[in-house]
Amino acid sequence: MNKNSYFERKEFTCPSCGTLFLSKIWLIVDVEEEPDLLEKAKDGKLINAACPECGHRVDGETPVLMYFPEDVPRVILATESKNDPSLEERAKVLEILDRLQESSEDEDILSHLDEPGDWVEKASLADRLEGYPEESLVMDDQETFENLRNIQKENPEIFLFTAIEAYLNAEGLENKGKVVSFAPELLTEDIDPLFERFISGAEEEGDEWQKMIYRAQWDFLKRAREIGYQAAVEEYERDLYQEEE
Ligand SMILES: [Zn+2]
Repeated sequence: MNKNSYFERKEFTCPSCGTLFLSKIWLIVDVEEEPDLLEKAKDGKLINAACPECGHRVDGETPVLMYFPEDVPRVILATESKNDPSLEERAKVLEILDRLQESSEDEDILSHLDEPGDWVEKASLADRLEGYPEESLVMDDQETFENLRNIQKENPEIFLFTAIEAYLNAEGLENKGKVVSFAPELLTEDIDPLFERFISGAEEEGDEWQKMIYRAQWDFLKRAREIGYQAAVEEYERDLYQEEE
């Protein structure tokens, strides 16, 4: 039996032939429970319903949450417009995240609301899932930058936050450097209040490890602010080398 996956029955009018029909629309797909629906999503057929008369596909008009219990990210949220969902869509997203949090007992579900990298436009859902599970669900550089660019344009107030997040998520100093060249704001004092907030958040949760990571990353960025990113990388590598000797 399905514990997490969830659908609603909705009424549609086919814009092509005018037929009125009822169809199941999936709002939550746990890919372990419903592997066939993952395939359907990859084919672009999860987010819409087929008219029984003429086969025309009608948009489901609802956000879709894909749940990957054993993967990273665990949640991919597909909405009409990724960076600017309507109030109605936002409410629906909250509703399904809540529902999944309850059914899966997965405490972290709601945190995906604040992870821009876990959101995708419905029209791009199939592309994002392409190659899965052989290929990772994590966005590659190009997607990360595209995402940052959109946020800078549409949601400038969370741009810096997202840039820091992309910086922290990037693997290795070279990739982190790419994020810095995309968002030079990372080398300004603007990041300080955000890092302070991250650190006190980790403190409140008693997460010493996370706190240490934030502090180290922040120190590094502050050093890069003084002497430039590349020079800070060279300094860091030199120090590392000396420690090894
Ligand atoms: Zn039709």
